[in-house]
Amino acid sequence: MAKKIYKSLPDMSKARNRVDAPLLRREDVVVPPLFASFAKGRKYWISTFGCQANVRDEEIMAGFLSIAGMERASEESSADLVIINTCAVRENAEEKVYGEIGKFKANHLKDKNFILAVCGCMMQEENIAKALMERYPFVNLIFGTHNVPDLLSLLEEHLEKKKDIVEVLSFPGSIVENLPSTRLDDYKAFVNITYGCDKFCTYCIVPYTRGRERSRKKEDILAECRELVEQGYQEITLLGQNVNSYGKDFKDGTNFASILEDVANLGIPRLRFMTSHPWDFSDDMLDVIATHPNIMKCIHLPVQSGSNDVLRRMGRRYTREEYLNLVRKIRLKMPSCAITTDIIVGFPNETEEQFEDTLTLCEEVGYDAAFTFIYSPRKGTPAAKMVDDVSSSAKHERFDRLIKVIEKSVIGHAEQMVGETYAVLVDGPSKKDPGMLSGYTESSKLVHFRGPKQLRGHIVPVRIVESHTFSMIGELVEDPWISLAKDVAKDLLQEDAAKRFFATKKAMEDDPEVARLRDAIQEEQRALALAMKDGDDLAYAHHKKAYEQNKRAYEEHPLVRNLAASSEELKQELLSVVGELS
Ligand code: SF4
Repeated sequence: MAKKIYKSLPDMSKARNRVDAPLLRREDVVVPPLFASFAKGRKYWISTFGCQANVRDEEIMAGFLSIAGMERASEESSADLVIINTCAVRENAEEKVYGEIGKFKANHLKDKNFILAVCGCMMQEENIAKALMERYPFVNLIFGTHNVPDLLSLLEEHLEKKKDIVEVLSFPGSIVENLPSTRLDDYKAFVNITYGCDKFCTYCIVPYTRGRERSRKKEDILAECRELVEQGYQEITLLGQNVNSYGKDFKDGTNFASILEDVANLGIPRLRFMTSHPWDFSDDMLDVIATHPNIMKCIHLPVQSGSNDVLRRMGRRYTREEYLNLVRKIRLKMPSCAITTDIIVGFPNETEEQFEDTLTLCEEVGYDAAFTFIYSPRKGTPAAKMVDDVSSSAKHERFDRLIKVIEKSVIGHAEQMVGETYAVLVDGPSKKDPGMLSGYTESSKLVHFRGPKQLRGHIVPVRIVESHTFSMIGELVEDPWISLAKDVAKDLLQEDAAKRFFATKKAMEDDPEVARLRDAIQEEQRALALAMKDGDDLAYAHHKKAYEQNKRAYEEHPLVRNLAASSEELKQELLSVVGELS
């Protein structure tokens, strides 16, 4: 009897559909019975490949598993359930996935209840899911990017039917709200604003694996961001394959500039967004970025190529001139704005001259950083059908030349930072040297410096003392405990206890009766001192009685008592925060 159930397999023609409107689902999480008992006391592990969209999906899957009662395993070998979250953007990403799956064969032999699931963009490609199930018969569940919200019911079906399940949906995609999420960080967060993409660049698989471009409702995005701000998050990155086209599908004038401004006005210390498409980059977006200090002056603007002919064959919908003009506009508005990009080398039929165009464009822009790739054909994309006459050696040779040009401008930007002080959001121990901390500046430059681990999640001033190609060495400008105390004070001021304290203090300071009593006490104190000096016992006795009466009236005044109560509350709040820091 067949051990595998193929409920639905990916279909690229369906994935191309851009007619049907996306479904909006708002559901509460229901933990099915069998999985609820499986989950008790068991641990999960999710290994994610690829982009931030996949990282956000990981946090959502972790949210579902946590609600079901599972805990994140500290290492993959101790997990009872493993999910491999795949990427399809490049061939080598796929190769890595096969290696990753193979690692878990042993787990099945050790524990017959062990569950191995595979999901993500690679599963949306035709033939991959079926071939993978045949090649790795110990895989228990395969699903795609459109049915992440169905994770628990798919796991339930696997347990109920004792069969391996394959369900990969190929439709334009839905928007599911009320999704649970267990975030990977407690001070910086990704927030999806759009899903999918309609650009259909000829080399790109994303429009097929992530479906049509669809925007989340503004109120849902703002609710999620507001909650993060209230939880003390320091940084939010608005996420989408192409954030600039946010709201286009609403056809009511909603656009990216408006959502960016609304989120910035929530008061998050650092706001970022990715990824932008040069074609949709509007002037009002530039105005919003330039006018809000908490929107980071760091724009990721993939160019892919500097040649108009290659851009046309890539279907990028802008020319070299238009791209450079946009860069000029950005620099005019924000001279110190960092610009980063993505570049593909060796696109089919790319000539030496066309590659030179890419080099000269990079020299003209002077990027702060660039993600550079050698073209990798994606099955099912138009470019994959193009005759690729650029030899592998030529592609690698061009890749190396491009790296040199990019590194030159990256080093140039880095050298200009030496001696300057930058605000750095601390991520924790440096991967390079655990004895140091590391974090990113507003323009996304990586800095390593010495400091106490308690600075993790805090924004601190760091002076750059040394620059390297891909990171800097810095030193704290301020005593770290001062920085922490400032941050604690800033956070505390957001707390209800602090708001109550300062409101009561203000009310007390403005209250005429309290002011009269305070003045009377001081008056009596002066008279007392005078009576003592003059040895006038009668006067002393009189003023002592008046002093004590006023003092009692003052201390029993409702506003004064409230202030005493709220300052005690604030002290406890402060002690709890300091307790967390020690
Ligand atoms: S805009 Fe980006 S995600 Fe969309 S098709 Fe082009 S490369 Fe892919």
